[in-house]
Amino acid sequence: MTLASSPNNLVWQPALVDRVDRTQRNGHPGVVVWLTGLPASGKSTLASQVEARLHRMGLHTALLDGDNIRHGLCADLGFSVEDRAENIRRVGEVAKLFAAQGCVVFVALVSPMRDARDAARQRLPAGDFIEVHCHCPVAVCQARDPKGMYARALAGEIPDFTGVSAPYEAPLKPELCIDTAANDVEVSAEQLARYLLDRLQFKVQGA
Ligand code: ADP
Repeated sequence: MTLASSPNNLVWQPALVDRVDRTQRNGHPGVVVWLTGLPASGKSTLASQVEARLHRMGLHTALLDGDNIRHGLCADLGFSVEDRAENIRRVGEVAKLFAAQGCVVFVALVSPMRDARDAARQRLPAGDFIEVHCHCPVAVCQARDPKGMYARALAGEIPDFTGVSAPYEAPLKPELCIDTAANDVEVSAEQLARYLLDRLQFKVQGA
C-alpha cells in the first residue's frame, strides 16, 4: 500500500441520503443475498429468476454473477486459494456498495471457502448478509453440467475445479438452505422469494 492510499490519509465522506431515506423510498432495506454452492447447484438460475420476480414487484435489485465478474473486475484472478479469496473479497466489496445504495443484491458465486464468505459477512452491518446454500449432491451437479465444466474438469482440462479437484466447504449456519436436487426451479425460486419478501417486510403497493 502506498502512503497516499494509507487509511491514515483518508477521511470518510458521509452521504446526505442515508440508509433510512433509501429504505423509506424503496420500501425495503438494501441487503446482500449470497448464493453459494457447487458448480451447477443452481445459484445463477435461482439468483436471476428471483431477481426478476422481485424486480417486477417493485424492489430495487442488482445481480452479481461470479462468472460474469471474472470477465471484468476479476479478470486478472485465477483459481488458487489466494485468488479465490481475493475474488470473493472484491465481489463482497462491490455487493456492499450496491447494498449501501439500497439494492437487494444477488451474488451467485461458488465461494467455496467458509472463511472468505464469513469475511464478506463481517464487512456488512449485522443482518444485511443473507447466506443461501444451494444444496445439491455433487453427483447431481455432475449429471446436470449445464456448461460442460465438470466433463472438462474430469478430463483433466480444468485444474482446481470445485467438486472435482478442489474442496467445497458448506455453510454451517446459512440463513437459508435450498435443496435444489429434491425440487425443481419453480419450487426453489418460490422458496427463496418468499423468504426474502418476508424478511425484508416488503409490502406490494396497493395490496
Ligand atoms: P450454478 O450457478 O450453481 O453453477 P446454474 O444455475 O448455472 O448453476 O445451473 C443449474 C442447473 O440446474 C440449471 O440447468 C437448472 O435448470 C438446473 N436445476 C434443476 N433444478 C434446479 C433447482 N431446483 N434450482 C436451480 N437450478 C436447478
